[in-house]
Order: sequence, then C-alpha cells, then structure tokens
Amino acid sequence: MTIPSNLSHKIEAGERISSEEALALFKEVDLMTLGQWANQLNQRKNQDVISYVVDRNINYTNVCVLRCKFCAFRADKGATNSWEHTHAEIDEKIEELLKAGGTQILMQGGHHPDFKLDYYLNLLSHIKAKYPQVTIHAFSPPELHHIARLCKLSYQQLLSELKKAGLDSIPGGGAEILNDKIRRELSAGKCSAAQWLEVCETAHQLGIQGSATMMFGHIETLEDRIQHMNLLRTLQDRTQGFFAFIPWTFVPGNSPLNLASVGGHDYLKTLAVSRIFMDNFKNIQISWLTQGIKLAQVAIYFGGNDMGSTLLEENVVRSTGVGNKTTVDELCRVITQAGKIPRQRNTFYQYLHN
Ligand code: SF4
Repeated sequence: MTIPSNLSHKIEAGERISSEEALALFKEVDLMTLGQWANQLNQRKNQDVISYVVDRNINYTNVCVLRCKFCAFRADKGATNSWEHTHAEIDEKIEELLKAGGTQILMQGGHHPDFKLDYYLNLLSHIKAKYPQVTIHAFSPPELHHIARLCKLSYQQLLSELKKAGLDSIPGGGAEILNDKIRRELSAGKCSAAQWLEVCETAHQLGIQGSATMMFGHIETLEDRIQHMNLLRTLQDRTQGFFAFIPWTFVPGNSPLNLASVGGHDYLKTLAVSRIFMDNFKNIQISWLTQGIKLAQVAIYFGGNDMGSTLLEENVVRSTGVGNKTTVDELCRVITQAGKIPRQRNTFYQYLHN
C-alpha cells in the first residue's frame, strides 16, 4: 500500500481522513510521525490540559448469564465467588468516594438473570435521593440490551425510565470490537454491533451522553479496528452524544482467552491513529490501568488528553490479575512531569476547581 501524497497535508490541516487512509497510517507510517501528528491535533483541541476524574467503580453484581472468553470477572448465580451488593454496601462505597473528593460512580454489573426493571429503578432512585451530588455513570450498552430484553421493553422505554430514576450518563463498555463475527467468537450471546450502537443512539436522543470504548489486541485485524472507529465516528456525526473515546487493550491474565498481550508500540500507534481518525471526538482517554502509569505518561504525547479515573475498586480488569493502581497525587505528578497541566473534571469533561 502506498500512502496518498496529500495525506500528511490533510492531517496537518485537521481534515477528515478515510478508513483506507487510516489503514495506511497503521501499515506505512512510523510511530513517531503518528505521535507528532496526533499530538498536534490534540494540542489544538485541548491545549496543555490533561484531565482526570475521581470516581469509584461499583460492580453491583458479578452474576452473569454469559461467558465472554476474555472475562475473569463473571460468576454463576449462587456460586461462592458471586455477589449482589445491598443498598447499604453500595452506600458505604459512595461514602468512601465522597471522602476522596470524588464526583462520579461508574456502576456496571453482569447480565443478571433475575434483576428486573424495579431493581434498577430502586437502585438509581435510592442513590439519587441520598447522594444527589454524585453523578451516576452506569450500565453499559450490553447490560441495557440485556435488561430491555429481559423486561420486554424497547431501548427507548427502558432508558426513559432509568433517566427519570437518576441515570446521568452511560459508559461505553462492552463494545469490544463492533464486528459480529468477532463478537460471536468472543462473547456469544452479547448484544450485536448494531444493537450496541442503537442503545447508544437512543440514549443520545434522550439526552443521555456517554463514552465509547474499543477493546483491542485479541483476534481482530487492523481493518476491524478501523471499521469499529468508523462506526463510532459515523454515529458521533449524527448525535454528538459521545464525550470520549477510550481505546484499551485486552488483558490476557486470568481470562480464559490464551493470547499474548499487546505491546506499548501497538498501543501508542492505535491511540495516535484514533486521535487522527476520530476527528469529531474531543477527548481520547489513556488507559493507565492496562498500560501502567509509565506508558500512560508517554501516551500524553500520542494523542491522549485524559487519564480517565482513579478507579477506586476496579474489579473487571483486576480480576484478570493486572495489578496497576494509581492515586490522584500520582496522576497529577506524572502529568506535571510530562510538562502538562493536570485538571480534575466531572463525568461530562468539564474542568473542576480553577
Ligand atoms: S464481560 Fe460482562 S457480559 Fe461478558 S461474561 Fe463478563 S460480566 Fe458477563
């Protein structure tokens, strides 16, 4: 493949590139050139600020009827390692978040076989009544699809009810790679690519914004990654409902999928290509959790402008055995050492505390 002669001009001018051109970036352009372009584009959008959010993961249950091949988190209902948190247990976690200066809970769970709409409405209204200052960023598109199907509701009906009960925004988890062949292979029974996108589009139409993710570095090809990013970019053109894109790598660890993990080179290259290709996303998040804090610091110069969250009590990736942890102090230190300005943000990427 030859790189179109005007590609570097297009990128430097901030013009949109095609999927074919994105593939050429992956295959033909060296990492440092990509980093330079991605950094320039990021600088124009976000100047020298690198943001982060203080939040707490709350996995209200790990009971799940599915068996995704990359998942070390799920448990069968009634198994000794399963849990279903009570409201009191959830309150305790929120109290800890508030003590740490946090603003958001990221609440996700397995595809529980028995929890019906009432369970989710009670959970949301309980939290909203007791902690109105906390933003509830909850329920990934596959969870929402599962609940809608279980309760025989349309996405619109379900999301409207959840919004009324206190849902503020939705995390873009469970996208993996938006390609049904890959989804059937990795996560049989999970919502399809079209359903994932439809849940997001419906949420955006109802004024519920969210993030979009991509889990890469498993059985997908580079073409699949670009197709995934293109589907998100196309939806973003229609709704402007995504506030960030979060590419993160598959972590083999204790998961049933026996593959080698992605190296730093591929991670940085994918991050940079996403900054260049996804021109309608202001925020591209760096994954310190899967890459470690040192590579996350380098990723600041490869298109990333957000360090994500401090993830008090992250369970899903950690259940694979990954041991990366951080604190607000450490995040601020690595951002400052890289010559950038750390800023705490809220769920909606608005900066807090001048
Ligand atoms: S990734 Fe989510 S849906 Fe898949 S098995 Fe794990 S908990 Fe269930």
